[in-house]
Amino acid sequence: MKTIPNILAVDDSRLALTALKDTFTQQGLTSVSTAHSAAEALTILGVGKTVAVKEDEEFDLIILDIVMPDMDGIKACKIIKNVDRLKDVPIIIVTSRTDYDSLAEAFQAGAMDYITKPIHAVELMARVHSALALKAEVDRRKAREQQLIEMTSRLSEANQELKRLSSLDGLTGVANRRLFDVTLEQEWRRSMRQKRSLALVMMDIDFFKLYNDHYGHQAGDECLKQVSAAIQKCLRRPADLLARYGGEEFVALLPDTDLPGAFTLAEYARRGIERLALAHSFSKAAPVVTVSLGVAAIIPENRFKPAQLLGAADQALYRAKEEGRNRAVTGAVEPYLSEKGDRQ
Ligand code: GH3
Ligand code: MG
Ligand code: MG
Repeated sequence: MKTIPNILAVDDSRLALTALKDTFTQQGLTSVSTAHSAAEALTILGVGKTVAVKEDEEFDLIILDIVMPDMDGIKACKIIKNVDRLKDVPIIIVTSRTDYDSLAEAFQAGAMDYITKPIHAVELMARVHSALALKAEVDRRKAREQQLIEMTSRLSEANQELKRLSSLDGLTGVANRRLFDVTLEQEWRRSMRQKRSLALVMMDIDFFKLYNDHYGHQAGDECLKQVSAAIQKCLRRPADLLARYGGEEFVALLPDTDLPGAFTLAEYARRGIERLALAHSFSKAAPVVTVSLGVAAIIPENRFKPAQLLGAADQALYRAKEEGRNRAVTGAVEPYLSEKGDRQ
């Protein structure tokens, strides 16, 4: 914030300009620029230039003589008020006592106040002070408005980030259980409307407790990250969603996918994890970290619930564990699949 306001005095009479400047200087208003014509004033104000004016170079008040050769004060006033960055700079019109008629026009052009020639210092300063006070208030409000706009935008950015983070799992960066539950409901309804198959793949790391026990919890966390990244790589469609379902359980939600399609994807993911070749000497399934997968799919109908699809995938996962782990097994949403007769 500048301490001394910038004033621009415009008058074709050198004498009048000197008198104005002297009066201002005596009152401590030492930052006064002068222009001898409207054209010179417009140049000083940078009218027509697109360059941003520095704050300390901005004018806080313009004293504008009405009667000047070439371009009169009223025309200049109109031009200044049409410039967005100058429209809040107060303009005081200087007129002779015999020229009251043009005052209405001056106010219409955007002038804030007027003084009459010959200028009386007391009157001049009273009007100048009130114009400067108004300008300072407008500036304060504009600054507060700007602050508010910036704060609102920062707040909304932070909110968006918070929203994003609150739907992700902190360790692996994939969707968390909450986002999965909401998405499952949404995709369930969409699949029902479109009569399309919705598939789920439940995955659980084999002998992960032993992995933790022998390699440590930190290595376990690192393993979870790598496994989730490997599964994520297998999901190519934008609508596919991988979520951390529990401690070492992941679930993939696959819209528009039937049971054979989901099984293929599950196998692909299983091999991808196997190929990570993360040593697991204590697993009874393989010398490396592996997962078991349960696959289920359904074309949703009103008589079924999403929990049944989850249940079917979970049961299939249980069978995969029982049958020796490191494998994918398909499950049935009963009586859905037996009715369809395409159980595999
Ligand atoms: P199974 O093959 O039958 O799935 O055997 P498992 O040992 O994987 O099964 P269990 O459910 O008994 O063990 C899961 C282990 O996963 C228990 C826990 O130590 C580990 N675990 C769960 N969440 C995390 C986690 O966030 N970080 C780490 N490092 N380990 C976790
Ligand atoms: Mg488990
Ligand atoms: Mg496990």
